[in-house]
Amino acid sequence: MNSFDYDVVVIGGGPGGYVAAIRASQLGKKVAVVEESSLGGVCLNWGCIPTKALLTNASVLDLVKNSKKYGIDIPSYKVDWKKVVKRSRDISKRLSKGIEFLMKKNKITYIPNRAILLDSNTIKLDSKKTITSKNFILATGGHSKTIPGFDIDSKIIITSREAMVLEEIPKHLVIIGAGAIGVEFAHLYSSFGSKVTLLEGLSEIVPNEDLDVSKELEKLFKRKNINVITNAKIEKVTKSKTKAKVFVEGHETLDCDKVLMAVGVSGNIEKLGLEELSISTKNGFIEVNEYMQTNIDNIYAIGDVCGPPMLAHVASFEGTLAAEHISNKNTEKMCYDNIPACTYCEPEIASVGLTEQKAKDLGYDVKIGKFPFMALGKALADGSRDGFVKIIYDNKYGELLGCHIIGKNATNLISEISIARNLETTYHEILKTIHPHPTLSEAIHEATADAFGEAIHI
Ligand code: NAD
Repeated sequence: MNSFDYDVVVIGGGPGGYVAAIRASQLGKKVAVVEESSLGGVCLNWGCIPTKALLTNASVLDLVKNSKKYGIDIPSYKVDWKKVVKRSRDISKRLSKGIEFLMKKNKITYIPNRAILLDSNTIKLDSKKTITSKNFILATGGHSKTIPGFDIDSKIIITSREAMVLEEIPKHLVIIGAGAIGVEFAHLYSSFGSKVTLLEGLSEIVPNEDLDVSKELEKLFKRKNINVITNAKIEKVTKSKTKAKVFVEGHETLDCDKVLMAVGVSGNIEKLGLEELSISTKNGFIEVNEYMQTNIDNIYAIGDVCGPPMLAHVASFEGTLAAEHISNKNTEKMCYDNIPACTYCEPEIASVGLTEQKAKDLGYDVKIGKFPFMALGKALADGSRDGFVKIIYDNKYGELLGCHIIGKNATNLISEISIARNLETTYHEILKTIHPHPTLSEAIHEATADAFGEAIHI
């Protein structure tokens, strides 16, 4: 007989945690979710969703600014920044309420509190109450990192969290780090009229992407007057009450009103009881096996707290897998070979699989095809001629190794490639799939044809 309060208690109600809870409940488990802040986690409240809302406002503004190009003259317009921010906050609140509804619908107990592990079957809440469970899933997420010596004061040196609720549009925003967060905010505030300086320590912006994509984005950002500095060595930041000076080796001092720290994320592993239970961590993240189990079998960990790739869709997938493993449902091991990455700057970036460099490093003889959106009717009709699709095949068997898209709707287009790779597709199947006309997806077909010297429109 089960003598525990629950079969599964999930700690953290983000896209990892709430999805794990729902899946466990679907599989007949008695489930609770403990969440100290708002349901939906960073993704829904302070990350993916509110930033995408803000970015939609930016594209509306960009369209208004460029409306003459479409034969529509908008002689005057005004930005109401408070309304821009409010729209984003309202969307987050609405979605968080939606998750609360999903908890009820799935008969999951929602415990708004903070939990700490006492032993492998017990947690203690801030309210002092203890709860027992046969299994735990730790889904506590992550928080913004900073560079040693650079204190985030949340006023002048800020994180993405403050950057999405600023009272005013900054005159000059300096962004440290040109990963997904850095480039999304660079695009956002540049559209809203800020002078933006983007500092990246490595030789390319979005350094995890294929080199051609990084170069294309840098070119387009420069065209938008974003000041991009790569190989940046930041010496120090000094502050007055309302301003900051950023000192970068070999460059003029940057006088600005905000500095956004976007140098990555660390796992929320503190004050969870991990050390007391000797749960293994490495480089600030919880260590797990392919079934998301920690070194204590009945304690699982998923999402950002386990380290990269720190993406909401990865957390949800890991959560589902953990819930199924707990329920003895046949689960395949977690595999990270086919994770799409999406960045919502303008134009968007999306990729899956190997970059050209990585494929070559792994010894593949590659066939590469590239198709620019400039040569595509639908892209021109849409007014989105920037960017391209780059697709990488293995010459020997025609295996689809990777695809890198920069351009309008890239983040939606990439799913075709994820499925194709999941089905171990070769170039032949992509080439013999009739892609609808006129659509942006034709660029994937044409890039594939290009890899084998058969492209029609270039
Ligand atoms: P990131 O790791 O993607 O990028 C950080 C960047 O900062 C890197 O390019 C790194 O080289 C640079 N950097 C590090 N130290 C530096 C220094 N001292 N000086 C200059 N540059 C430095 O991290 P992020 O952009 O902060 O995002 C955090 C996490 O959230 C990532 O895992 C990211 O994938 C995820 N995220 C995803 C999305 C999305 O999918 N659209 C959006 C936002 C965040």
